[in-house]
Amino acid sequence: MELNILDMYSDTLNIYGDIGNLISIKKRCEWRGIEVNQESFSVGQENNLDYENVDMVLIGGGSDKSQAAVSNDLLKQRNDLENYIENDGVLLAICGSYQMFGNKYSSFNENSIPCLEIFDMETIAQEERLTGNILIENSLGLRPRTLVGFENHGGRTYHKYDVLGNVEVGYGNNDESKEEGLSYKNFIGTYLHGAFLPKNPHMADHLILNALKNKYDIDSLEPLNDDIELQAHDFMANKLLKSKK
Ligand code: GLN
Repeated sequence: MELNILDMYSDTLNIYGDIGNLISIKKRCEWRGIEVNQESFSVGQENNLDYENVDMVLIGGGSDKSQAAVSNDLLKQRNDLENYIENDGVLLAICGSYQMFGNKYSSFNENSIPCLEIFDMETIAQEERLTGNILIENSLGLRPRTLVGFENHGGRTYHKYDVLGNVEVGYGNNDESKEEGLSYKNFIGTYLHGAFLPKNPHMADHLILNALKNKYDIDSLEPLNDDIELQAHDFMANKLLKSKK
């Protein structure tokens, strides 16, 4: 089996080690003997991407400045990305890039960053940032139920789609709803950095399995020994749960 992974703008959108998501996916495939073909795409690169042959798209987060730097380039791929998502393509977008799949992102200084307008979702930034470690209970039915990460965003995001999870500790989409992320078909948008996938191996495997299911007749992955990854996950989950009491 093989997976074609499109790593988008990781030279610009890679705050708090989001590139770790790509490393985690690649390693977990390698350990299972699944071949990974990686294509890395940067701003200004000639776009001859063939989304029909892409099995997973990974996009990280970044400051407003970095978001503005990729936005024109990203917008050129709007229709390809929308088709890809509608055709059940697997896509993980973190924080700044998650925001850009919506209709609008207004930054704190009132500037708007052009967005893809794929989802009916709006993000409005405030001066006070939502920062810290975050613990959510995932809505995807993954075990363990918890997902851990780190968030740092001025943006407050509002939408009515399914969420990735409910916030136990931290903020998530905004400072009111106790909801985190957006889940639509195989699109996952989330505020969780960390990097997110290395300490949430169950989430990484969810993405790998869904990507493989789109091209092979399989319904499960070969289990890996995740003792170390789950120790990292549990350490943070327990610490945050204690802080809640
Ligand atoms: N610029 C966005 C915000 O502050 C995203 C930040 C990030 O990706 N961590 O809301």
